[in-house]
Amino acid sequence: MERPALRRLLRAISDTDDEEISCAKCFDLVSEYVDLEVAGMVGEQTLPQLQQHLRQCGVCREEYEILRDLARLEADGRAPSADDLRSAL
Ligand SMILES: [Zn+2]
Repeated sequence: MERPALRRLLRAISDTDDEEISCAKCFDLVSEYVDLEVAGMVGEQTLPQLQQHLRQCGVCREEYEILRDLARLEADGRAPSADDLRSAL
């Protein structure tokens, strides 16, 4: 019996497994991702594996949020002072 919806679902799950990235890979990509995000160039299709990893991994999510906050300050022309950095960490 054909069950295309179920097969699509199973394929989606195995695709996700194939595309899962490690924390090391995530750290490699996250600064690039933050640059794109601050530039307003991030969408659902932007580094989807990275987005998925950030949803699942609290450690990388924290790293990402710090980088993003710093990048936003820089984009505003308000590069953080040493004191700002200390309080962020
Ligand atoms: Zn991670």
